[in-house]
Amino acid sequence: TTNGRFRSLLVGVNKGDHLVYVGRVGTGFGQDAVLRLLPELKAHPSKTSPFTGINAPRRERSVNWLDPVLVAEIEFAGWTADGLVRQAAYKGLRIDKPAAEVVAEKPAKAATAAISKLTLVSPRSQASKTGRPNVVMNVPLSNPDKPLWPDDGNGKLTKLDLALYYEAVSDWIIDHIKGRPCSIIRMPDGINGERFFQRHAMPGTSNLITLTTVSGDRKPYIQIDRPEGLIAVAQIAGIELHPWNCEPGHPEKPGRFVFDLDPAPDVSFDRVVEAALEIRDRLKAVGLVGFCKTTGGKGLHVVTPFSVPESGRLGWDEAKAFARELCIQMANDSPEKYLVNMAKKQRSGRIFLDYLRNDRMSTAVAPLSPRGRDGAPVSMPLTWAQVKKGLDPSRFTLRTVPALIGKSAAWRGYLEAERPLLEAMKALAGRPAKRTLAGAKSAGVPAAGP
Ligand code: ATP
Ligand code: MN
Repeated sequence: TTNGRFRSLLVGVNKGDHLVYVGRVGTGFGQDAVLRLLPELKAHPSKTSPFTGINAPRRERSVNWLDPVLVAEIEFAGWTADGLVRQAAYKGLRIDKPAAEVVAEKPAKAATAAISKLTLVSPRSQASKTGRPNVVMNVPLSNPDKPLWPDDGNGKLTKLDLALYYEAVSDWIIDHIKGRPCSIIRMPDGINGERFFQRHAMPGTSNLITLTTVSGDRKPYIQIDRPEGLIAVAQIAGIELHPWNCEPGHPEKPGRFVFDLDPAPDVSFDRVVEAALEIRDRLKAVGLVGFCKTTGGKGLHVVTPFSVPESGRLGWDEAKAFARELCIQMANDSPEKYLVNMAKKQRSGRIFLDYLRNDRMSTAVAPLSPRGRDGAPVSMPLTWAQVKKGLDPSRFTLRTVPALIGKSAAWRGYLEAERPLLEAMKALAGRPAKRTLAGAKSAGVPAAGP
């Protein structure tokens, strides 16, 4: 209010248990609308602000807080980079959808329901100096022409290119990062500048990014649940996405393994391919389904989704022991090719099977995440038919991947491929390595054990 007169509404949407502030609605309040609205507002006063989160407005004398029980339809032109509505206009209260119903729904559903009440109209997309757009998925970018990857012979790649890439593959990426804490690596001055590995949300973090709390840390973690969140990440030059491997929505629950194959510099890529196929076969032998991706770097990742019992008895300690045992069996069977011991200096000629990636707070680069390396490589999901001699991971870049992934059958069935880890653990325990542990020890591989 100003001078006791109604001016605007502060509005929010449900996200999990929180009511997240999404901005101020200052138009659409004709005389009739205000006459109908005011009695409703006066019926729900509150002493405190209902909003939580970093962007929540501070207490001001001119703000009258309400209990968040009213649902309004808002028309708006898009999102600001901070996740606030732009040019928002009030269209009326939605009495057909009682707020009580929204509150009673499960958190995830409540978020969708609340957002669905905001009607999106097409944005007025502005052009940058170069004539290219500077709004992607309704999210404006500042400095869209900022180079992030220097010219590698094909031209430089800018913040706008990153945002357009994220837009092109957003549905694909979101499936693999939503519901999980996700660190981002920001390179505001491009890949040759300073890097910031960011786990936690910071003041000013966009509302398009979800904040999630995990046990043992008061500060909220970054989580990206919606395509627009990726554009907000591009806006802050977030080039790499590194999610946890928990069950979506359950940060304490293990949800997938990533077997990280790290070849020594003198090992050919064909041998990494051979190692990925062997991991796949070993997973299959214990009932798990493997999926392979390039890393955008030197190795390959084999990913397998699994389920653990509701009880929570099977945590990361047990899951990690499984991953360790599988890698140890593989290294024991071919000690001349593989090793699991990081401390060993003599990696030369061999591939390091990094089972340590499989832990509660460990991350792996997300499928389709770009990498802050020369040539803008991408961590590319592959079909097993592609995982063969001659595979060249450098083909998969920010430029080539959007067209390639559209045609690809890679990771088809991933979401239905989850198998019970408990069964796999039993199966693995019944599969002794071909060589004896004594033999393995002499080859420099530690024996299995706690
Ligand atoms: P490459 O194929 O070149 O090995 P990669 O993504 O597997 O690429 P690694 O160095 O093997 O790179 O790291 C594996 C994963 O571990 C990364 O994807 C990343 O999520 C995580 N990681 C690596 N280094 C760090 C770090 N310094 N801090 C946090 N996480 C890291
Ligand atoms: Mn690796």
